[in-house]
Amino acid sequence: MKGLCILGATGSIGVSTLDVVSRHPDQYKVIALTANANIDVLFEQCLSFHPEYAVVVTESKAEEFKQKIAGSSVADIKVLSGSQALEQVATLNNVDAVMAAIVGAAGLLPTLAAAKAGKTILLANKEALVMSGQIFLQAVTDSGAVLLPIDSEHNAIFQCMPAGYTTGQVAKQARRILLTASGGPFRKTPIADLATVTPEQAVAHPKWDMGRKISVDSATMMNKGLELIEACLLFNMSPDDIQVVIHPQSIIHSMVDYVDGSVLAQMGNPDMRTPIAYAMAWPERFDSGVAPLNIFEVAHMDFEEPDLQRFPCLRLAYEAIKAGGIMPTVLNAANEIAVQAFLDEKVRFVDIATIIERSMAQFRADSAENLALILQADQEARAVALKVIAELAN
Ligand code: NAD
Ligand code: MG
Repeated sequence: MKGLCILGATGSIGVSTLDVVSRHPDQYKVIALTANANIDVLFEQCLSFHPEYAVVVTESKAEEFKQKIAGSSVADIKVLSGSQALEQVATLNNVDAVMAAIVGAAGLLPTLAAAKAGKTILLANKEALVMSGQIFLQAVTDSGAVLLPIDSEHNAIFQCMPAGYTTGQVAKQARRILLTASGGPFRKTPIADLATVTPEQAVAHPKWDMGRKISVDSATMMNKGLELIEACLLFNMSPDDIQVVIHPQSIIHSMVDYVDGSVLAQMGNPDMRTPIAYAMAWPERFDSGVAPLNIFEVAHMDFEEPDLQRFPCLRLAYEAIKAGGIMPTVLNAANEIAVQAFLDEKVRFVDIATIIERSMAQFRADSAENLALILQADQEARAVALKVIAELAN
C-alpha cells in the first residue's frame, strides 16, 4: 500500500488521478489532497477518499472549508492553509508518491520539496521543471527520488525507452525524439483571423479536456515549447535531436527513433488516465479505466511539420532552451502572465507571443545555478511582462 499526496487535486489531472486511485484501493491510500480555492470539489473528494490532510491554499477559503467539514463524516481531516502547507504535505513520512498537478510556477516549491525528500514524483506540472531545470534533476539524484513523467508525450517517450531506463539518463541508442502535438484548435485558422479569437475558442481543445492555462498553451503551441524543454531535461537530449510533429488525431503520443532505424511509438486514446496509471503502477501496469483503442475508427493518421510563423511561441521555446541559464524561467514566467492577460481579455491571442518575445529581450541568459537566482528571474520576468502589457495598451 502506497501513500499518495495530490498537489492540485481539484484540477483536471487531479480528478483523473483520483479516478485511477478509485480503481486500486488496495494499492494506494490518499494521505493528502490540496486545492487553491475550489472547496466544493475538494469536499466531495474528501468524502470519497478521506485523506488525513486537506490543504486549501487561500486562507479565507480554508476557514470556509473547516466549517463545511465540521459535523460531516470527515470532520477529523486536518485542514491546513497557505502555500507552505503544500510543502508540508508533500514531504510527510507516510507519503510515498506525490502527484505534482498544480498549474504553473506555484507548483515549484512543493514539487522540489518532494524531490528533496526522496519521494516518487509523478510530474504533470511541467512549468516547475522548465523553471528549475538542472536544480530539480539534481535534487532528484541527490535524494534518490524517482521522477516519472505524466505529460502524455513524455510518458509515451519514457515507455519507449530501453528496459531499466530512468529519467535524466542518456538513452545511448536513441538518436531522436519525435514529440507529437495535436496542433490545437487553430491549426487551420487563417493567420489573419488569430487576432480576434476569444478565450472560449482558445480553450476549446479538439482532443484533450484540460485546465484553461494549458489549453491556451496548446492553442499557441507554447505547450509544445514547454514540453520540448521538459523533454531535453527528462531525457538528457539536445533540442536539435527533438523533432516536433503535428499529429492531429492524437493517437500516437510520441516516438523514439533508435540508431538501428527502429521507431517506437506509444499509442492509445487521448485520455490522461493512461499515463497517470502507467506512472502509478510503474514498473508494472494496471487498469486505468480508458476504453481500448479502436484502430479501425482511427483509420488513418496524419503528420505535419509545425509552421513557426503560425506558432511563434514554439520558436521562442527553442530559443530559450538554446540560450540556457535563466531563459527558460523567463519564457515560462512571461507566458504565465501573458496567458492570464489573454484569459482576462486584456490582450489579444496574438499578443501572447509578442509579450514573451519582448520580455525575453530584456534578459541575458545568466546562470540559473541556484534556486534564489531562479525565483528572482521568475519575479523579474513577471514584472517585465506586465510592463510590456501596459505598453501594448497604449
Ligand atoms: P487545472 O487548472 O485543471 O488544475 C490546477 C490545479 O492547481 C487545481 O487543483 C488548483 O486548485 C491548483 N492551483 C492553481 N493555482 C494554484 C496556486 N497558486 N497554489 C496552489 N494550487 C493551485 O490544471 P490541469 O489541466 O490539471 O494541469 C495541471 C498541470 O498538469 C499543469 O502544469 C499542466 O501543464 C499539466 N498537464 C495537464 C494535462 C491535462 O490533460 N490537463 C496534461 C499534461 C500536463
Ligand atoms: Mg502534453
